Amino acid sequence: LKAEWDRLKDEPSLTKDGKHVELAANIGTPKDLEGVINNGGEAIGLYRTEFLYMDSAELPSEDEQFDAYKKVLEGMGDKPVVVRTMDIGGDKELPYLELPVEMNPFLGYRAIRVSLDQDSVFRTQLRALLRASVHGTLRIMFPMIATLPEFRAAKAILEEEKAKLIEEGTEVSDSIEVGIMIEIPAAAVLADQFAKEVDFFSIGTNDLIQYTMAADRMNERVSYLYQPYNPSILRLIKGVIDAAHSEGKWAGMCGEMAGDQIAVPLLVGLGLDEFSMSATSILKTRSLLRKLDTAEMKELADKALTECTTSEEVMALVDQYVS
Ligand code: PEP
Ligand code: MG
Repeated sequence: LKAEWDRLKDEPSLTKDGKHVELAANIGTPKDLEGVINNGGEAIGLYRTEFLYMDSAELPSEDEQFDAYKKVLEGMGDKPVVVRTMDIGGDKELPYLELPVEMNPFLGYRAIRVSLDQDSVFRTQLRALLRASVHGTLRIMFPMIATLPEFRAAKAILEEEKAKLIEEGTEVSDSIEVGIMIEIPAAAVLADQFAKEVDFFSIGTNDLIQYTMAADRMNERVSYLYQPYNPSILRLIKGVIDAAHSEGKWAGMCGEMAGDQIAVPLLVGLGLDEFSMSATSILKTRSLLRKLDTAEMKELADKALTECTTSEEVMALVDQYVS
């Protein structure tokens, strides 16, 4: 099996009937690049930049950030790199930002909420990203977007910083895609409206599942409710993908579910364009993809969405098809 996967390292990610989907990697630091390249990653689908902040005793400077982003962009050559602006808060603490102690940190002050509130921190990150953009194919993604005004505000700040840099004579790429993570149910429900304004979606199932099922992703007592294959989750995912496609945009996924071997057949059937996962899952997934026929998977997904009432029924259905 290992030998078969190794052979797939430089092969395209194709389904049995020849449809290409992008198999990308999630990374936390530039050091993770080697693993992405060794495992045949076609892109970075999620660069979690919060580690830059967490591994530091003070706010990382614009230049420090620029160096990290440039390293990743250059390391990937022409291949796209989706950089997520910092997702601090929730379970991720930062001593020097003085984040409040909260009763419900996952429902509190985190991610884009912090960035829009402390916009000098956000602007520094965006300037570093914009300056790095000429060194590869950069895509910028905002985390934990719940409303359109949040996206518009974040995008406006990005545009302001871009204009300032150009004014100062700094070169900035003019083809940076700007998208959002879909990890809050409100955004999934309004995906058709978001799709008119964003360049892409990346579905963050780790959070989307916990918020949809109201089951803390860290709490073992309610982990039985943390159900990636619950038909409610599958319907939300379908709505997001369809909304993107209706506006000619692409939809990816960067939660754990994207590399889950039971979920992949369903996601192929739902038309997901990009799958971003830990680098070590890429070759296994490329091998699985080659056994899946898209028309057959579409039928499978339709059945899961319309006939299954529970997560268990969905699992049994997929099992029949893939094994
Ligand atoms: C997610 O929520 O699915 C996600 C990819 O983000 P994180 O795991 O960093 O919250
Ligand atoms: Mg998340």
